[in-house]
Formats: sequence, structure tokens, C-alpha cells
Amino acid sequence: MTVSPHFEFRDGVLHAEDLPLTNLAEQFGTPLYVYSRQALHDAWEAYRTAARDRDVLVCFGMKANSNLAVLNEFRKLGSGFDIVSGGELARVLAIGGDASKIVFSGVGKQVWEMQAALKAGVKCFNVESEAELVRLSEVAQQSGAVARISLRVNPDVDAQTHPYISTGLKENKFGIAIETAVAVYQHAAALPNIEIVGVDCHIGSQITEISPYLDALDKLIVLIKSLADKGIELKHLDLGGGIGIRYTDETLLSPTVLLDKVFQSLETHGLSHLQLVLEPGRSLVGNSGVLLTTVEYLKHSEAKNFAIVDAAMNDLLRPTLYDAWHSVEAVVPRENTANDTVYDIVGPICESGDWLARDRSLHLEQGDVLAIMSAGAYAFTMASQYNTRPRAAEIMVDGLNAHVVRPRETLESLFAMETPLD
Ligand SMILES: *Cc1c(COP(=O)(O)O)cnc(C)c1O
Repeated sequence: MTVSPHFEFRDGVLHAEDLPLTNLAEQFGTPLYVYSRQALHDAWEAYRTAARDRDVLVCFGMKANSNLAVLNEFRKLGSGFDIVSGGELARVLAIGGDASKIVFSGVGKQVWEMQAALKAGVKCFNVESEAELVRLSEVAQQSGAVARISLRVNPDVDAQTHPYISTGLKENKFGIAIETAVAVYQHAAALPNIEIVGVDCHIGSQITEISPYLDALDKLIVLIKSLADKGIELKHLDLGGGIGIRYTDETLLSPTVLLDKVFQSLETHGLSHLQLVLEPGRSLVGNSGVLLTTVEYLKHSEAKNFAIVDAAMNDLLRPTLYDAWHSVEAVVPRENTANDTVYDIVGPICESGDWLARDRSLHLEQGDVLAIMSAGAYAFTMASQYNTRPRAAEIMVDGLNAHVVRPRETLESLFAMETPLD
């Protein structure tokens, strides 16, 4: 019934592992992000099993959930990290992460970010333009360091996902068009303090089909061979992230199926010496978290019924940003479903776009606690303080224990750095 075995109903109450979510809502208040430690481990295990004894480096695409407690779980499991900013680098270093397992992605790397990443000694910069390559060479020379690079190429494949999270098409801002990649690699080979180590692509997010990956792989293999002909040998191939999760009834692409196909293809082309790098974000954390919220008011009008809750678009932006669908469960569902009403679940923010779910059949009363499922990815990390709303607390459940891994922000902290003029 629910999307994760670690968020299940027991005796009519939704639990996170062994804890009733009613207890957590009472103890810590709502809105509240609740993560399951075991769910993180299980998600990791799916990739570890898929990798078997093959040379695979999984770099958690940490923009999906960058809480230090989450990062530290993956670090202990052996994960690397895919970072997209100097801020994310600082988080990985703060938990003692191994820089030799960091890949640095992003179209707009600034000089200070390059300097910090060179100083830390990251595994690879995924370079997204020729201008970035030139800047990186200059910064590396000034730093007396060598920058290891991949080019992020844009293979022009359709990931068959939402336009906002599709990144591998020609018209996207990401990467270097695959037709020009050989020339840019040759430019890279001629630049001082640049060492070419790999090739990279990331074609989109919430992908549920294997074909976009295999299409991209085919194009990368052609590129890798042309580079070899020109004397440019690579050490790794990075296929990015993007594996989808189940928000509702999606059929899923399993890491095992994907990796078996990828390695089969690499072997066929005599490329099995390459290390495979992956950058999964959502699939490692998405179904490891829920967002708890309390019904403040029920409001019935001629056209619609609204459940006005205490969570809002500032806590979970995905519905309004991507038209995303999150399952909504009453934490203690009422038995009599005959009285179900169709509600839009909306927040208190002064925007019509402030909705979390639409047209959900629920039997609700004021004060009920709801769980918005699949809120482990792109939830807290996209949260804001809009309407001067403190960002909600984050809780990590481990069996019968609940750890506060980030407390609820205080009102004073929201404006503590501001200075009124006399
Ligand atoms: C966002 C992102 C990821 C992670 O994507 P998911 O869909 O969450 O797996 C990986 N690599 C890059 C470059 C990204 O921008």
C-alpha cells in the first residue's frame, strides 16, 4: 500500500520503522521530515548488489538530500559524492568525506569553487563548456594543481521524463554537444594543468526506462573510440544519475538490470577496463523519507474541498514546480471510507501555487496528521523560508530511536542576520 517497506501501517497506524508517526508528530511538531535509516541502507544495497565485483563508483547526487546525517550514512557505506557547488563540497568535507570519490558537476562553476575543489583534490571535474575548461586550466595553473576532467557531453537523447528534469536534449543548457566533443577533448589535451580522465553524461531524472541510458551509452562508446583513435585514453565512464522511484505505480528500472546491460555493452566493445561512475540522487533517498503535516482547517466550497495543512510549498516545492504527484496517507486512517471526500491538500502560503496534492479521496477531520510520501529527495533541500516560515525539523529514525538531525529553525534565526537602518 505504501511506497516503502520502512513506512508501513501497523495496527492501523503508519510507522517509520518501529515508531508510530503519531508519536513523532506529537513529540516534534509538524511539519516534520522523517527519514528511515534502514531505507537509506536498503537503497544503497540495491546499487551494491548491482555492482557485484565490477569496478563501479557510486557518487550520491547529494543535491537530493544533503543533511550531514544522510551524507554520513552513505560515506560509511563507501559512497562517493556528486557535488554541484562549493557549498556541497564543504558539506562532504565536514563529514570527513574522501575527496578522491567526489565528482564536481554543474554548468556555472565559479573560480572559488574550482580553487576549493582543487585544494580538496576531487576525483574529477565534469566540465560543461569550453569556457569552463579554459578557466579551469587557468585556476589550476595558479593553484599549482592538476585538474582531472571529464567532459559532460550532451548525447541528445530523450529521457522521456518531465521537461524540467530532462537534461540530455540538444536544447538543454547542460553539457557539450556530442558532435563537438572530440574537438573539445583535443583542446583539453593541449591545455596546461588539465588531465583527461573520463567522459560524463546525465540525461535527466525520474527515468523509468532503460532505453534512454542505452541510447546515451551507445553514443558515448562511439565517442570513446574516436578519442582512442586520437590517442586520448579514458579511465572512467560516468552515466550520471536519474533512476526513478515509485511515487505511485511507476514500473521501476532496477540498478541490476541497468548495470548488467551496461557492462555487457562495454565488454562487447572491448571497454571493460573502464570504471563505471554513477550519480544517483533520488533513487538513494526519495522513498527513505516522508513529510508529516497536520490538517489545520477543512474548507468546503461549491467547486472544491480544501484541506488546509501546516506544510506548504516552502517545505515541498515539487508539486507546484514539476506538477509532481506525491502519495498522501492519513497517519491513522478512518475505517469508514464511505465518508471520503475529494480534497486538494494546500498550504497556508499566499500563492495559488501553494498546493501539495490535488483531488485526493480522504476522510479527514481537523487535527489529523497526514504523511506526504516520497519526501526524502528534493524536499528539504529545496525548502525555503518564504512567508517567514521556519524550515521544518529533520528526524532520522533508527528502529525504535528518533534522532533530531536538524532542529526546527527558530523564528529569531530567520532574521538574525538582518540589520534595520536607523
Ligand atoms: C541532479 C543530478 C544528479 C542526480 O539526479 P537524480 O535524478 O536525483 O538521480 C546526478 N548528476 C547530476 C549532474 C545532477 O545534476
